[in-house]
Amino acid sequence: MSSSFKTFLKHTAKDFHNQSVNPPVVRASTIIFKSMQELRKTQAKALKQPTGGHYDYGRQGTSTTYILQRILTKLEESYHVFTTPTGFGAVFLAIFSVTRPGDEIIAVDPIYSPTRLLTENYLKEFNIKTLFYNPHDLNTLKKNITKKTKLIFVENPGSNTFDFQDLTKIISIAKKNKILTVIDNTWGTPYFFKPIKLGFDMSIVSATKYYSGHSDVMGGSLAVNKKVYNRVKIAEKMTGLRLGPDDAYLITRGLRTLDVRLDRHSENAKLVSKFLVKFKNIKLLYPYKKKSYNYKMWKKFYSGASGLMGLIIKSKNKGSIKKFVNSLKLFGHGYSWGGFESLALHQELGETGKRKFLKLKKDEHLVRLHIGLEDPSDLIADIKQALKHIK
Ligand SMILES: *Cc1c(COP(=O)(O)O)cnc(C)c1O
Repeated sequence: MSSSFKTFLKHTAKDFHNQSVNPPVVRASTIIFKSMQELRKTQAKALKQPTGGHYDYGRQGTSTTYILQRILTKLEESYHVFTTPTGFGAVFLAIFSVTRPGDEIIAVDPIYSPTRLLTENYLKEFNIKTLFYNPHDLNTLKKNITKKTKLIFVENPGSNTFDFQDLTKIISIAKKNKILTVIDNTWGTPYFFKPIKLGFDMSIVSATKYYSGHSDVMGGSLAVNKKVYNRVKIAEKMTGLRLGPDDAYLITRGLRTLDVRLDRHSENAKLVSKFLVKFKNIKLLYPYKKKSYNYKMWKKFYSGASGLMGLIIKSKNKGSIKKFVNSLKLFGHGYSWGGFESLALHQELGETGKRKFLKLKKDEHLVRLHIGLEDPSDLIADIKQALKHIK
């Protein structure tokens, strides 16, 4: 019987051996076999059928990590999914797999700031150069292509400023120039958008965010197509960047309700954005304005929008913006997002990296909100009382 992905998420990974609805957490370094012949047979199978879940040592994973990889491979509709100890581990693995000294990377300007530090600063020491493009002007991408360009690193939407891009155009530019592509798809997850199906070679998701959904575990995933599979497989083996079974279990547990949670995050964020657009001093960074380029580029690729949004607030009084954020009672102040709870951050420009194309004016301030699963009318009332502090 074929069933939808929503049904698959609820019914997969049942453990009939132990008669439990959830899989066991299999912790292992040593995997034992009945005989040397059996050990060798498993090794041969692992080589011949690399995505088949055959293990001879705990570093390769156990049945618990394999179950998570299997669920994610189905969700991504990809050739394979590698799981890493953090989302940033997946960023590193993607880049490390396909670039070598002398190569060049072109990355989107509004990139996750640790990814910017890795590409622009750290990789320079390995003679890998990174150039940046404007997400709303792909000529800046084309102009940066040289014979050395190996990888285009996309993040969609762009970090903090939520710029949606023409992804088909980026893929076609890359293919024409025989350049590999990777996208950081943490904001939308493959529940709303499937990058490998569109033509990306690799796709990153921080499992710390919506996959886990409960702010109690870290992890990452890197989905790949067949073309790059072998290169990533070798790099994964060499770096030992693999997720442990306890974390894999928690992420699998979170995934059971990914669809339900994301649908609700989306609904709540829509209600909050409807409230926020009424304020003239606030520019909302969320796909809502039907005629805008961001909305069109979101609509073209995504079946939904998640709970993370930005606000550019105009004010000559920076202290009052901080007061606004600090006065929110239902929004916690801290990093990460994607959990069940609402969060708010006032973002200093330094944190958004050394941007070349997208800068804020002196009287513009950036606030990031993660809209959680609380009652949206409570969230709106909370924002309403806090907004009174803005001067
Ligand atoms: C959080 C995040 C990461 C890194 O994930 P961790 O699990 O925190 O290491 C990468 N990219 C984006 C867009 C993120 O939001």
